[in-house]
Amino acid sequence: MGGLEGRVAIVTGSGQGIGRAEAEVLAARGARLAIWDWHLDLAEATAAHIISHGGVAKAYRVDVGDSLRVESAMEQVRSDLGPVSVLVNNAGITRDNLLYKMSEDDWDTVMNIHLKGAFLCSRAAQADMVKHRWGRIVLTSSTSALGNRGQSNYATAKAGLQGLTRTLAIELGPFNITVNAVAPGFIDTDMTRGTARRLNLDPEQFKEAISSTVPVGRVGVPEDVAHAVGFFCDPESSYVSGQVLYIRGGP
Ligand code: NAP
Repeated sequence: MGGLEGRVAIVTGSGQGIGRAEAEVLAARGARLAIWDWHLDLAEATAAHIISHGGVAKAYRVDVGDSLRVESAMEQVRSDLGPVSVLVNNAGITRDNLLYKMSEDDWDTVMNIHLKGAFLCSRAAQADMVKHRWGRIVLTSSTSALGNRGQSNYATAKAGLQGLTRTLAIELGPFNITVNAVAPGFIDTDMTRGTARRLNLDPEQFKEAISSTVPVGRVGVPEDVAHAVGFFCDPESSYVSGQVLYIRGGP
């Protein structure tokens, strides 16, 4: 497939789930991968998998909500792999609760990781992209941005990321940098298995119940999102910017 040979790509939260599949797709297209996750063991497993398939990858322990750590990790990636051309802001968490039970900490933590994390990583990565007049940034929104019971913090953050996507697309477009967002529906990962457990549901039954509401008749898998990210990062997608692509098996 190719297209990203020699380019350095960072995928945040790529120790597992959607981010891991995104890192694998970008590596298959020739990118050299920086695997960021706050679980170093998981990041190392993703990197090892990519290397075992002939790719180049290195693992880093990073909390995307920590500005000092983001800046120092960015510097480390530059010196280990080279200037950064691709950034996929994927790291995220949920702290679901109905409004009356949602703590200030649940609100702040979700805002810090999703919104501030994407801001910090994008600000740090754009320097190389602007300098070299080429870049691809992808943010991770969600169908929850349209509203979802029990997720006032998460839905707000995911809607905010759409505003950030459009604004960065305007600011960075003149430097040949595109900025787009994926907005997945239900994707089978640790995150959604955790949601099922919190609702006291069996994860398999939860998936079956969701599948019946999806027009294509199944829940998503991480690769469904990863291939869309591959499209946004392709050199030939240079006229696609500021877009939010819903990936949810239907309209
Ligand atoms: P996941 O399976 O939990 O994987 C995300 C990885 O990122 C985990 O290893 C997680 O660690 C890590 N992480 C969380 N916060 C971090 C931080 N501050 N710094 C570094 N790493 C961090 O989640 P996923 O389902 O693949 O979701 C990936 C992204 O897609 C998230 O932004 C999520 O909101 C979004 N999304 C997911 C779905 C879905 O249905 N799965 C739908 C729409 C959007 P922990 O396990 O400790 O949290």
